[in-house]
This record gives sequence, C-alpha cells and structure tokens, in this order.
Amino acid sequence: MISRIDLRGSSGDPRALLPRAATDVSASLDKVRPICEDVRERGTEALVELTERFDGVRLPGIRVPRAELDSALESLDPGVRAALQESIERARSVHADQRRADTTTRVVPGGTVTERWVPVGRVGLYVPGGRAAYPSSVVMNVVPAQEAGVASLAVTSPPQAEFGGLPHPTTLAACAMLGVDEVYAVGGAQAVAMFAYGSGECRRADMVTGPGNIWVASAKRLLKGVIGIDAEAGPTEIAVLADDTADPAYVAADLVSQAEHDVLAASVLVTPSTELAGKVEAELAARADATRHRDRVAEALSGRQSGIVLVDDLDHGLTVVDAYAAEHLEIMTADAADRAAAVRNAGAVFVGPYSPVSLGDYCAGSNHVLPTGGSAVHTAGLSVQTFLRGVHVVEYDRGALAAAAPHVAALAEAEDLPAHGEAVAARVGGGEEGSR
Ligand code: NAD
Repeated sequence: MISRIDLRGSSGDPRALLPRAATDVSASLDKVRPICEDVRERGTEALVELTERFDGVRLPGIRVPRAELDSALESLDPGVRAALQESIERARSVHADQRRADTTTRVVPGGTVTERWVPVGRVGLYVPGGRAAYPSSVVMNVVPAQEAGVASLAVTSPPQAEFGGLPHPTTLAACAMLGVDEVYAVGGAQAVAMFAYGSGECRRADMVTGPGNIWVASAKRLLKGVIGIDAEAGPTEIAVLADDTADPAYVAADLVSQAEHDVLAASVLVTPSTELAGKVEAELAARADATRHRDRVAEALSGRQSGIVLVDDLDHGLTVVDAYAAEHLEIMTADAADRAAAVRNAGAVFVGPYSPVSLGDYCAGSNHVLPTGGSAVHTAGLSVQTFLRGVHVVEYDRGALAAAAPHVAALAEAEDLPAHGEAVAARVGGGEEGSR
C-alpha cells in the first residue's frame, strides 16, 4: 500500500523526487473571494446566511452565550478535563519561557536603540471543527497569545448541527477553562473575513491564527494584509528518519497516527535500512487494517504524499529530511540527539523512541500549530513570538546626531533625497536653524 521511493545513489536537490500532497490554495481563491466580500459588505447578516449554506445551521446569533461555555465545562468528562488541564499547564510552562525581554543597545555615546516587544492588540483564533473537534487547538492557540500579553482574544469554531448549532462542546469547555469568553460559532472562509472586517457582533481583529481546511487557508491568503496571519497550515505531515536500531512497531504506529488526520495527510519514512523498511511495511499492513479510521488511514498511506524513502546512509537521510522540511520530524536512530541537533528544517523535531508526535499533539508542552507543505524552511510554528512585535525606539541626543550627520547627508545625497540630510542639518548645523 505505501510506496517505496529509492533515492540511493542520487545526488542533488531531492525535493522534486519526494512525495508531497498537491493542495492548490490559489485555485480556491476565486471561490472564497465572494464569501469574504459578502461578509465585508453585509457583516453578521452574511455570516448567518453563509453558515446556513456551508454548515447547515441557522444561527440565532453568531456569538456563543457565556452560559453555554459554563454548561459545556460542567458537562465535560472528568478525564478529558484533567487531560486538558495538564495540556494547558505544560504548554503554559514552555510558552512562558519564550517571553523576551526588551533590549537596549547603546549604539554610540548619547544614541540608543531599544527593541520593545509589544503584543498584538486583538487576535482572532480559528479552531477547526468541520470533520472533527480540536479542543487541543484551543490550548495551542490561546496559551501563547495569553503568554504574549494579547489583551483581546476571540475564538471562533464552526457550529455543529448535532450540538444545537454550537461549536463542539469540548471546544467550548476548553475556552471556558482558559478564561476565554468571547467565542463565535462561525467557520470556514467567512470566519476569517469576520475577523478581518468585523461584523455587527464581532469587532475586527489585528491578526487571525490557527489551522483549518482549504477554505480557511485560502481566506487567510486572500485577506493577508487586511489582517495579520500566522501561516497557511495545510494537510498534516510526519517524516521519520530511522536506522535499523528503530523499533518498526513504533515507526509504523506513528505513521498510522498521522494518516488518521486526513486522507491528504503525509506519512514518510526515510531510512538507509531496507530491513527496517520491510518490517515497517509489514507492521503498517497489520496496524492500518486494525485501526478505527482504517479507510482514511489506508487512503493517506497509499496516497502520492506518503512513502518509504530509501537513502544511502543517515547523512544522506538528513539531507533528504532537511529538503522535505516536515511539519513533524521524528528521529529514531542510535545517535538521535546528535542527528536532531543537525536538523535545520522542520516545524518540530521529536527525538528518540519515547517522543512521538502524538505526545506533541496534546501534552509535550510544545505547540502543535506548525508549518506544513515545506514552509518550515522559512516559517516557525505558533509561539509567543507570533503574537509580539518588536518596536524599535530610537533616542539620540544632539551630540550623537551631530556625529551621525555627515553619514546621513552622504547617504541621502546618494539616494537623491536631499531633504533627508536637511532634516538633520536643521538640528545640528549646516543651516541657519542648526546654529540656534
Ligand atoms: P474547518 O473548521 O477547517 O472547516 C470547516 C468549515 O469549512 C465549515 O465551517 C464550512 O463553513 C467551510 N466549508 C465546508 N465546505 C465548504 C465549501 N464547499 N465552500 C466553502 N466553505 C466550505 O474544519 P475541517 O474541514 O475539519 O478541516 C480542519 C483541518 O485542520 C484539517 O485539514 C486538519 O488536519 C487541520 N488541523 C491542523 C492542525 C495543525 O495544527 N496543523 C490542528 C488541527 C486540525
């Protein structure tokens, strides 16, 4: 079912040879454009109509009443509540450590530049909910925003007909546990537009973050600039770099667990060991058949985005996983920590046999909103940093400005912008004002 890709003996950039899902966000732009325009023009009225069309729910109002959040929390299974609490605490401890102190650099005597980290004022957090419930995504979105000091946080998640037109109750309970009481029952592209433009009930936000399907990703691309975005998270991915010391049952279990997300999910093993490859194939056949979502898993594993990639050795394997730039990268080799330290491109790296991706999905403390589709070469996962802006504060005294004046004048002249030089001369000399 899973295909083999033999890269042994091949050199050069392996990217074109690696398996990868083809999700064409740009092809959906024309479909989401009228949705976003409609929300911009008609606000809540459009949101209600679009939700009826795409979610099959007629909303009495788009905001979830506070009482519904409280009652979702009261009815939450105690085991799930304890697990969410643990997940929140671990995420909070990691994200609290990500906070940065302001820095002040004394560039010259009398001249300083301070970088002041200022949280984004208002953030809209998208929690998906079309085909499954993702209370863990509430934790992964809300905790870093709170730790960054974001003053105004709103969550949105699609309404579910089976839950009386509210988002999934576990999602609502997670919001209540985190102290978020501004929650909307809106999903898809229209939810991104709601945050970008605002509507009667929902104030516009400065930024929208969180994963979602193709409609959510397309709306983020379309409205980027009107609103800040984190990344366009596409179908999820795992790459495992393993040698023959790896346990094939662990490798197969992790490939299956990723495939369970989505028929487009990618599960990729990179190994120099044909023996391990054979054992993993056998394990996959047994596990994929026995798992609850076997049809989805079988489709994902046999898709063009998944495969077992054979490489010459672990150094070659490292080159390949760096080129692939997986959302999640597991390293199961004899020298896992050293190999992991050499990785340059991955959303998150999971080291050794006891750090599976599913731990990271829920309660390693790390964030699970991570870059997909190879974007890990330039983009990081969600963190406190996502919600902060470094504002430069420049403060020079007269002497420091005077010392810099000839350099400003020379560069201003070189760029044919003489008024720039004159603005300095007006203060420190070179003109009548300067002598005052
Ligand atoms: P979703 O909330 O992203 O999308 C559901 C919404 O899509 C609906 O509310 C509806 O309004 C809209 N929609 C459905 N069909 C439409 C159509 N034909 N035209 C316009 N809009 C339409 O939920 P989902 O669909 O279950 O997708 C969730 C995605 O998020 C999955 O791909 C999942 O793997 C991913 N995910 C990623 C992470 C991560 O951290 N990377 C975490 C959780 C989920």
